[in-house]
Amino acid sequence: MHRFEPCLNFIGGRWCEPKTGQYGDNVNPANGEVLGVWARSGADDLDDAVRAAREAQSAWRLVPAPERAKVLRRVADLLRDRKDEIAQTLTMEMGKVIEEARGEVQEAIDMADYMAGEGRRLFGQTTPSELPDKFAMSVRAPVGVVGIITPWNFPIAIASWKSLPAIVAGNAVVWKPAEETPLTARAFAEVYQEAGLPAGLLNVVFGDGPVVGEAMLSHPGIDVISFTGSTETGRHIASRAGANLKRVSLEMGGKNAITVLADADLDLAVDAIVWSAYGTSGQRCTAASRVIVEREVEEALLARLLPRVQALRVGDGLDPAVQVGPVIHEEALAKIDRYVRLGVDEGARLMTGGRRLTEGTLAQGYYYAPTVFAGVRPDMRIAQEEIFGPVLCVMAVDSFEDAIHVNNGVKYGLSASIFTRDVNRVFRAMRDLDTGIVYVNAGTTGAEIHLPFGGTKATGNGHRDSGQAALDVFTEWKTVYVDYSGRLQRAQIDNN
Ligand code: NAD
Repeated sequence: MHRFEPCLNFIGGRWCEPKTGQYGDNVNPANGEVLGVWARSGADDLDDAVRAAREAQSAWRLVPAPERAKVLRRVADLLRDRKDEIAQTLTMEMGKVIEEARGEVQEAIDMADYMAGEGRRLFGQTTPSELPDKFAMSVRAPVGVVGIITPWNFPIAIASWKSLPAIVAGNAVVWKPAEETPLTARAFAEVYQEAGLPAGLLNVVFGDGPVVGEAMLSHPGIDVISFTGSTETGRHIASRAGANLKRVSLEMGGKNAITVLADADLDLAVDAIVWSAYGTSGQRCTAASRVIVEREVEEALLARLLPRVQALRVGDGLDPAVQVGPVIHEEALAKIDRYVRLGVDEGARLMTGGRRLTEGTLAQGYYYAPTVFAGVRPDMRIAQEEIFGPVLCVMAVDSFEDAIHVNNGVKYGLSASIFTRDVNRVFRAMRDLDTGIVYVNAGTTGAEIHLPFGGTKATGNGHRDSGQAALDVFTEWKTVYVDYSGRLQRAQIDNN
């Protein structure tokens, strides 16, 4: 007997068993308990969901956007009512500490409130025509059916970033959540259902990425793919979905750095480093996995940082005293440990951590000791590749210019932070750091929902989640000319 009922697909407003008859296990990373099972769907289930979505969208696009927004307002209210319960479930299946899980649900609430406002602000543009008695404008039209593919590390926040703007803009959604976090996905679908979203506008098809996700990439009934996950998967999605001429929005990996200049407030910088590197056990796309420090303060920084890292309380995220939860699964643990061994082989100095934690009940879960490397060179693989765990690489540099150079010398471009009191360097860093998000005197994580979120280079493909920018992913610009002269007027170009 499992603690939770099976997570079934949600298609056309009904909860349905997968046609495959197969299910996958949902495991609590804190203790290995099987919490329940999720529908291991196939391409037929996806077909049903896309059909339901297309049908529902043909009516939804005609509903005025301020009316659509009312559903989002109810989504916000219902999420508020269920905040603690959803956060508990999220922690159980994903591992992040309960306070962070509550923060994540709050982010979905904020996004629902914000996107409800966008329902009244789906602004187009009017523009003067070059001819008399003629009106020219552009309006945002829905694209159609949006396929959403999400990772496990922010199972409700990222789903909210994508589904809420898609729906308020008049689209229908087919969502394939991550295999690891079905309960949070189910709770979000329940909220949409209870909020009165008409059947078929949000469909959830649980399943494996290479099966259901893959089938989405070539499905003719899906117009847009909005993906967040690893760069490796994103690259594959871009080529497959791109070949089918789908619009593809990609938010992918990161190798984010906090730069600490010699004039920085070191205590503040250490607070930010600890939170950014070890929050969510380092499994955030914006996690700080590099510290770039001016050499003259390297020792002072390490002297403050190491005791703080060693004092972090690691354990089950449901315990409010715990600061660092488990990592997602055994494979993640093995990957992190491989990188740590590699770092040692590459000649980096392991200052603390560097091992799986197995003391007492920790042995049943997937825990890794918060780890710091010093003496890391920018060309080492641990300084270049996304480890996605509680591992921090400290690198010393000799100047501000070096710091910017090292910061930008990775393939990813999500977030970067700089600590300094020098206003000129603040503005130079804002200009020269080549990431999509720059923080000044703050950690590398934390996004405000009304601003664009996303990265450059191997982190993204030019689209953004969050804020008004998200609407560009989920709408088409439609240009409309209205000639009220009563005669045939020819635009300049026709006369040539
Ligand atoms: P992942 O790429 O393994 O999986 C992401 C999703 O893609 C899952 O739902 C998975 O089932 C699906 N998928 C896998 N193979 C597929 C295929 N062939 N076709 C279609 N879909 C497929 O990533 P993950 O391990 O779940 O998440 C961690 C990664 O996500 C990290 O790299 C992290 O940096 C990144 N991430 C990025 C952001 C951002 O906004 N930039 C935010 C959070 C996480």
